[in-house]
Amino acid sequence: MDFLQPSSWDEALALRAERPDALPISGGTDVMVELNFDRRRPGALLDLTRVGELREWSLDGGTVRLGAGVPYARVITELGAQLPGLAMASRTVGSPQIRVRGTVGGNLGSASPAGDAHPPLLAAGAEVEVASAARGPRRVPVAEFFTGVKRNALEPDELIAAVLVRTARGPQQFCKVGTRNAMVISVSAFALALHPDRQAVGTGIGSAAPTPRRAPEAEEFLAGALDWAARSPLPDGLARAFGERVAAAASPIDDVRGTAAYRRHSLAVLARRAVTWAWDDLRRAA
Ligand SMILES: Cc1cc2nc3c(=O)[nH]c(=O)nc-3n(C[C@H](O)[C@H](O)[C@H](O)COP(=O)(O)OP(=O)(O)OC[C@H]3O[C@@H](n4cnc5c(N)ncnc54)[C@H](O)[C@@H]3O)c2cc1C
Repeated sequence: MDFLQPSSWDEALALRAERPDALPISGGTDVMVELNFDRRRPGALLDLTRVGELREWSLDGGTVRLGAGVPYARVITELGAQLPGLAMASRTVGSPQIRVRGTVGGNLGSASPAGDAHPPLLAAGAEVEVASAARGPRRVPVAEFFTGVKRNALEPDELIAAVLVRTARGPQQFCKVGTRNAMVISVSAFALALHPDRQAVGTGIGSAAPTPRRAPEAEEFLAGALDWAARSPLPDGLARAFGERVAAAASPIDDVRGTAAYRRHSLAVLARRAVTWAWDDLRRAA
């Protein structure tokens, strides 16, 4: 197996085009598992860790451009204020070792329905910046990026450059259910973002459908029911009704980690809790 080690973004894109048999590797926390279990045997590995551009983030006009190679540990320590939902999700990923190696770009590359970065990116309305040597960069709304179980919208000659996320204008929450608190794949996960500047709500559901997905009907329902101006307490039953709509947006399956019925139930509970916490945060900030 060849080991390709570009030291610049242009070189990485050129190699991606030249070697369609090369598998990109960033933190390697998914790729090395695949290789160790002999689930994949690519002709080459395209190591992206020396591409400095991928390991940077910047803030421009209220939007964070997070390089695909920025690991979770740095999202937690450097971006907790700007991207609180993503930072919360990052804190729940794996163990300290996984969070130092694993990246948001790698999570998007794997496109697992259980990827923990996906729900907060959906709730925030993020865009994924991808690029090829032949056609240059393009942006894909994250809600359109996941095309099937562990499938994404990348063309064979493309790499993920970055993810673009608007900084939080209001409270954000992320919660997940697993069989224990750490080193666990989610049985279900939910992210919520309140956008008081435009009186809108964002959601993201994980581990409860073939792809991570939003709950658009629940978003509209909640945005229309919240008293954004007075920020008065949540009316009785609103959080529960929101939770039921979130659960209805899922299409979970039974598998070794949980039943479809439990996934729906737990999602309703997570969504109810998330809106209660987020609304309390917004009222306290008033
Ligand atoms: C013990 C353990 C615990 C874990 N716990 C969690 C957890 O709690 N939550 C969770 O969501 N995940 C978890 N994971 C999975 C993994 O850590 C994450 O999916 C992580 O985000 C992968 O990032 P990476 O940089 O290591 O990706 P890699 O393994 O390097 O790559 C993953 C995929 O993305 C592709 N890729 C990487 N970078 C790019 C790029 N720039 N452009 C195009 N394609 C690219 C690769 O080709 C590959 O297909 C765990 C893994 C392990 C081993």
